[in-house]
Amino acid sequence: MAARSTNQCTDGYRLEAQENLSPGLYVHVPFCASRCTYCDFHVASLRIPVVRDYVTALVDEISSHFANGFQPRTIFIGGGTPSALDLASWDKLLATLSKYFKTDLIEWTIEMNPESIDANKIEIALSHGVDRISTGAQTFDEKGLSLMGRRHDARRVFEVHQLMAELGVPRTSLDLIVGWPGQDHESVIADLEAVAAIDPDHVSLYHLSYEQGTWLDAMRSRGVIDPLLDETCIELSRQFLEGLSRQGYQRYEVSNLYKRGGESLHNLNYWLRGTYLGAGSGAASFHGGKRWKNRPDVQSYIASGGKPERVDVERPGGFTVVTEQIMLGLRLVEGIDPAQICSETGYDIFDRCGSYLRRYEQQGFLLCSENSIRLTDRGFEILDTMIVEMLDLLERTGDANDLAKSSGSGDCDPGLAASVLGCR
Ligand code: SF4
Repeated sequence: MAARSTNQCTDGYRLEAQENLSPGLYVHVPFCASRCTYCDFHVASLRIPVVRDYVTALVDEISSHFANGFQPRTIFIGGGTPSALDLASWDKLLATLSKYFKTDLIEWTIEMNPESIDANKIEIALSHGVDRISTGAQTFDEKGLSLMGRRHDARRVFEVHQLMAELGVPRTSLDLIVGWPGQDHESVIADLEAVAAIDPDHVSLYHLSYEQGTWLDAMRSRGVIDPLLDETCIELSRQFLEGLSRQGYQRYEVSNLYKRGGESLHNLNYWLRGTYLGAGSGAASFHGGKRWKNRPDVQSYIASGGKPERVDVERPGGFTVVTEQIMLGLRLVEGIDPAQICSETGYDIFDRCGSYLRRYEQQGFLLCSENSIRLTDRGFEILDTMIVEMLDLLERTGDANDLAKSSGSGDCDPGLAASVLGCR
């Protein structure tokens, strides 16, 4: 595996990173032993004969990417529960990826769930070149774990991180969830103490959402569980972020923090709108100017023999490009570069949204300069609202057809931008 690039840290990564982080490869392993109560992902039940057929098809698809000259900079194996693969399938998948792609990689992550990690799997992963393991802890509160339908207890999360330290896993990440019913300040303190004890390089802090079709949403509709108030969720989230900051974690994306240079380079590539291919049932790709998904159906994926049907194929252009740049870029602490957006699409955000940006800047939700529009911590608390409002305004104030016609020839005057915003 190649050495990690030096542009992996904080400031000024955007331009270099877009070159150095692309393309990525996402590999989807959709199997889970049971469904967590909040989960609406594309998952399938864990049956070993199906798993083996699936991995065979996956290896065929990965091989055809390689045969077409594809060489990723990062790999992320996610799910589902990749660690639920049987040992033979685990080795077969990782050996294939290693054989084709190991040389050019700067990062190779695999997701593991605490109940299905063991020393054997970790050692095999390390031997093939995996250098980052992401574990779904969600909380260290037993009530919370039970409510969310997790298949492990808190002690198991400590055990697997101890194991990873002993086996020399280079980088680790831990997923936590904020906002589950019954969560309180004491529980957040306990989670923070657990993070301090484990000391991962990276923490993802996701807000619980009640997705249609999940058990949790059904229980909420029936009045069986009481969701936390939005204000309570925001308070708990602030408590997490302050506690993680005191432990030395730096936020670089709305839901992600790192220490020791531990950002997820694979995910940074997504947020920077870099290119990537997906392999596996339901996996998404953005490559050659097109976006598509493999049909999310395990049986048809297996039957395709590594040539899955592509669905939702589109070639983003015009307003869609601006939408993607804003939706992805505003998630990052570094924010978006309006001059870059203007030169790429002809769409002048300062010109179209000046009064809107000024109002939110005065209220402390965002910071503007000639080269960036970025959200403050308070702004991140209303990220979705801000994105919807900004896109609505952009659409209403301009003729979206301008964008299709335009290809970087717009009148993008940074001086105008600064004077509109009074940011100079
Ligand atoms: S382990 Fe992950 S993918 Fe599987 S059901 Fe739970 S949340 Fe969903």
